Amino acid sequence: MQFQIIILGAGIIGVSSALHLQAKGYQVALIDKASPGKSTSYGNAGLIERSSVIPYSFPREFTSLLRYGLNRQADVRYNFSFLPKATPWLLSYWNHSAPAALDKAAAAMLPLIERCVAEHDQFVEAAKLNRFVKDQGWIEIFRSEKAFSKAKSDALALTKYGLAFDLLDGPALREREPHLSHTVVGGVHWLDPKTVTNPGALVEGYCSLFKERGGKVLHGDARTLKQTSTHWRIDSHNGVITAPEVVVALGPQSPDVYTKLGYRFPMGIKRGYHQHYRNLNNTSLQHPVCDTKGGFVLSQMDMGIRLTTGVELASETDAVNAIQLERCEKIARNIFPLGEPVDVEPWLGLRPCFPDMKPIIGPAPDHKGLWFNFGHAHHGLTLGPVCGRLLSEMIAGDSPFTSPTPYSASRFKY
Ligand SMILES: Cc1cc2nc3c(=O)[nH]c(=O)nc-3n(C[C@H](O)[C@H](O)[C@H](O)COP(=O)(O)OP(=O)(O)OC[C@H]3O[C@@H](n4cnc5c(N)ncnc54)[C@H](O)[C@@H]3O)c2cc1C
Repeated sequence: MQFQIIILGAGIIGVSSALHLQAKGYQVALIDKASPGKSTSYGNAGLIERSSVIPYSFPREFTSLLRYGLNRQADVRYNFSFLPKATPWLLSYWNHSAPAALDKAAAAMLPLIERCVAEHDQFVEAAKLNRFVKDQGWIEIFRSEKAFSKAKSDALALTKYGLAFDLLDGPALREREPHLSHTVVGGVHWLDPKTVTNPGALVEGYCSLFKERGGKVLHGDARTLKQTSTHWRIDSHNGVITAPEVVVALGPQSPDVYTKLGYRFPMGIKRGYHQHYRNLNNTSLQHPVCDTKGGFVLSQMDMGIRLTTGVELASETDAVNAIQLERCEKIARNIFPLGEPVDVEPWLGLRPCFPDMKPIIGPAPDHKGLWFNFGHAHHGLTLGPVCGRLLSEMIAGDSPFTSPTPYSASRFKY
């Protein structure tokens, strides 16, 4: 089977890239070893995060470092045995999180963040998936007056970005979320983002649109990728497929393919969990709420209330460790009436992260017809459609809506 473009990986990044390339007239094959949208793109918190104009950086205040050093926090935890291996990546992340470097990363990501909702809207409309998308933003909640007061000044410091938000004291917050307990003293309601009640179904829906428009979705192992003199080839379950162009969009598994081709990019993995809980006594959440200190998000999903955790630094192959989820659940139950867990086991996801807080989008430096789109860290659901657009413009040779230079693979020594 011959195509013009093969895309490896049917998560939000691969599916969005496929839709954009198809819209430009290419015959596209999308390859995954599993079903579309079942990996990292399934289990996230569902935020299309238009308000995240500052990337998720390494904390640099002494008090935070001390807190994390004890490894008893809910928002970040680590496996001690993993730290020696992770140290070079953590040091680089630390350096890129210095104020001037962070400003630079924020400026580089802004053109993508600014368009994230509009780009999703187009796919949602075309695929008739409005039932999965809410447009009421999400609420950041605080359990101490001190933390709430700092959050208010932090939010006001973002004025130059033109973000819409409401500052809510306890009573105002409970008008919007009546079942939040009095442990919560206030919140910042971010109004620009949209939120998704079933991220996996959204990606599946985008993929169905791709198929309805004539796209092919095939099962196969991306690690069989080979370059011939003129083409790229994959051994799919349906036979050999070839194309002159191939896109690697394998999220956290992208290194399985790019390292074999000689690239050594510094991708680190931040693990994260989720667990669903039954709604109790007709209570529900109207908006996702994020407890920043606890590092978790509670979102009303189709499967129940989903609690997603913050960051766990551990090897990809380390066993699931329920400690972080248990710490979060304890705080969450004081905030909102959660019922029994729905899932037998917590879900574990891998955020693919580069230390400079930007993805790689664009051509592979040393291989003709090889393209990259991975490393979207905490914001892959947010950025899928907009990054798919940018990549498709680069492949088609159109003038890109923003400069792709900040996301170039060549910024790393590989
Ligand atoms: C707990 C948690 C909460 C999050 N919350 C949010 C949020 O609220 N908002 C947000 O924007 N982002 C969030 N994220 C981040 C977001 O989920 C990811 O950045 C995004 O899903 C990455 O998408 P992807 O398409 O790159 O990877 P994936 O979704 O992992 O897709 C990669 C695909 O490649 C396939 N694949 C892998 N290896 C092979 C192979 N050898 N052969 C064939 N196929 C293969 C997989 O089956 C998979 O389908 C969160 C992440 C976590 C873990």
